[in-house]
Amino acid sequence: MGNVTLEHLIKRYDDVTAVNDVSLDIEDGEFVTLVGPSGCGKSTTLEMIAGLTKPTEGTVSIAGHDVTNLPPKDRGIAMVFQNIALFPHMDVHDNISFGLRLRDFDDDEIDRRVERAIEIVQMEGTLDRMPDELSGGQRQRIAIARAIVREPEVFLMDEPLANLDAALRVHMRTELQRLHQELDTTIVYVTHDQEEAMTMSNRLAVMDEGEVQQFARPLECYNQP
Ligand code: ADP
Ligand code: ADP
Repeated sequence: MGNVTLEHLIKRYDDVTAVNDVSLDIEDGEFVTLVGPSGCGKSTTLEMIAGLTKPTEGTVSIAGHDVTNLPPKDRGIAMVFQNIALFPHMDVHDNISFGLRLRDFDDDEIDRRVERAIEIVQMEGTLDRMPDELSGGQRQRIAIARAIVREPEVFLMDEPLANLDAALRVHMRTELQRLHQELDTTIVYVTHDQEEAMTMSNRLAVMDEGEVQQFARPLECYNQP
C-alpha cells in the first residue's frame, strides 16, 4: 500500500513561504503530478515527502505510517532526479546495484532485482557498459532502474526528463506510463510542463505560490468554463 497523505504541510524559509498549507490524499497506485511555474513549491513539497527537507509544520504519511520524522531510507521511497548522477567509474550493473550492496543484500537477490529492473527499462545487454558509453536517454533509464531495484512503495521523480531532448522526452513519457502500469506503484512526479503532466498522470495537483489550486483528473484541469 503506497498511499501518500500530506496534512497541512508548511515550509517557511527566513523571508519566503515555499509551501503554504498543502494537504493531499494520493491513493495507492496513483500517478500524481505536481505541476506549476518555477518557484511555486513543487520541489520543496517533494523533498518533504522524501525526507530531504523538514516541514515547518504539518505531517507526511506513507502507507498509513506517519514518516514526518523518519530519514529518507526508512520511508519506502526511491527518488529519480533531473540531474542523472551515475557513478562514472562503475559499469551499469554496479551503478544499479550500488544501493543494494550498501544494504547487504546477497548476490542472488541483487542479480534477480537487477535483471528485472533492466528488463523493465528495456536496457538488456548493457550491464557491462560504462556510463560514458550511453546516451542521455539511456543513462536516465539506468537511473530509473537504480530506483526500481529498491522495490519502493512510492517513486518520487523531480523533472526526470528535463535534460533530455524534445523527441526523447515525448518517448519517455510513454515509457514512464508503461513503467507505472508494470510496477503497479505510486508515483509522485514534479514538472513545470503542463502537457507532460496532462498526458502522464492520473491526477494533477496544480500549484501556485506554495498552494495547491486544484487537485483533479487531467480533463477536469485547465478546462473550466
Ligand atoms: P519549484 O520546485 O516549484 O520551482 P521550489 O520548491 O524549488 O519551487 O521553491 C519554492 C520557493 O522556495 C522559491 O521561492 C525558492 O526560491 C524557495 N526556496 C526553496 N528552497 C529554499 C531554501 N533552501 N532556502 C530559501 N528559499 C528556498
Ligand atoms: P528547481 O526550481 O529545479 O526545483 P531550484 O533552483 O529552485 O531548483 O532549487 C535547487 C536547490 O536549491 C533546492 O535544493 C532548493 O532547496 C535550493 N534553493 C532554491 N532556492 C533557494 C534559495 N533562495 N536559497 C537557498 N537555497 C535555495
